[in-house]
Amino acid sequence: MKDLKLAGLTSEKGTSSIEVNGVTIGGKEIILIGGPCAVESSIQMSLSAETVKKAGGKILRGGVFKPRTSPYSFQGLGQEGLNYLVQAAKEQDLLCVTEVIDTLSLDLVADKVDVIQIGARNMQNFELLKLLGEINKPIILKRGLSATIEEWLLAAEYILAAGNPQVILCERGIRTYEPSTRNTLDISAVGVAKELSHLPVIVDPSHAAGRRDLISALSKAAIAAGADGLLIEMHPNPAEAASDGPQSLYPKQFVQLARELGAVARAVNRVFAGGQGDEESLESLRIQIDGIDQTIIESLAARMQIVRKVGDQKRLDRVKDISRENEVMQRLVNLGNELQLSSELVKGIYPLIFEFAVQSQIKSKLAKEKELKRSLYPIGSK
Ligand code: PEP
Ligand code: MN
Repeated sequence: MKDLKLAGLTSEKGTSSIEVNGVTIGGKEIILIGGPCAVESSIQMSLSAETVKKAGGKILRGGVFKPRTSPYSFQGLGQEGLNYLVQAAKEQDLLCVTEVIDTLSLDLVADKVDVIQIGARNMQNFELLKLLGEINKPIILKRGLSATIEEWLLAAEYILAAGNPQVILCERGIRTYEPSTRNTLDISAVGVAKELSHLPVIVDPSHAAGRRDLISALSKAAIAAGADGLLIEMHPNPAEAASDGPQSLYPKQFVQLARELGAVARAVNRVFAGGQGDEESLESLRIQIDGIDQTIIESLAARMQIVRKVGDQKRLDRVKDISRENEVMQRLVNLGNELQLSSELVKGIYPLIFEFAVQSQIKSKLAKEKELKRSLYPIGSK
């Protein structure tokens, strides 16, 4: 893709992260963005902001200019809604994002919000994209309903070429022949976009699925696939939502999902910093510890399995390899130091792990030998 002159990934520049008012998108941390599809009232936004904060989210969303499929659907509160969004975000010390649809809405919004969203329906509104080049704010660029990844990246290129380097790509599902979900979340688009471009990629599972029961699993899949963040619709009262109620999470579901994201993030070497509020309660801290303990045991089990395979490739009298053990220990002590984990702890735990590994290798080898003998000399062998 030769025309990705600015959006393309090069080995010299590497991937880029975007810094906005203390929040980094595209770094090690997974960024959670949440809020209702449309801003409806001041109280709705205050409750939403409270939930986003509780969940450890960093950015409050809410549409005030809604590009709706039907001209008779709720079109958004405009300026009034913008005030509710900005105020609610401020109350909870969150950043905020809203969608712009044309020059007029861009002018209204540009100085008020931290991040600007371009919706799927405007991904190829090239004149609007060019205008965004002159704005000094990050732009979330949603993938068009039927846009190829190349078209999406070229739309990003428009913004970059016009002078704004801060573009965040957002996969939000594409139109396929499958009717059981509103769209089809293209998980592989995360990997492909990251292979072709240095820009951060986030995922919106809400517009992809169109149903709240799938949001949790799709969010986890997105993080596992390498997404840098999530944009999720949540409403204090989805049954009464002016738009996209069926896909909006209840506040409790949103917080619960956020609690579960940390483990997925850790599994792919990322972090998701859970919220302050509830996250600091004794109960929540214990849930977090339980999750980590489970990961420790699962990792140990996986390690032992690999260790046995290694054992199968060694001679019985060479199973214990002191120099390899020393090398591993040194590396882990150094890692522990970096992470402020006591080297005494690492030195205390690992000899045990090594010892059990050796024992398990010996056991596994002896069992295999016995099995082999039995198959070679089936009669009389014990
Ligand atoms: C939205 O985020 O509310 C929205 C309209 O999304 P999309 O442009 O992806 O349909
Ligand atoms: Mn919506």
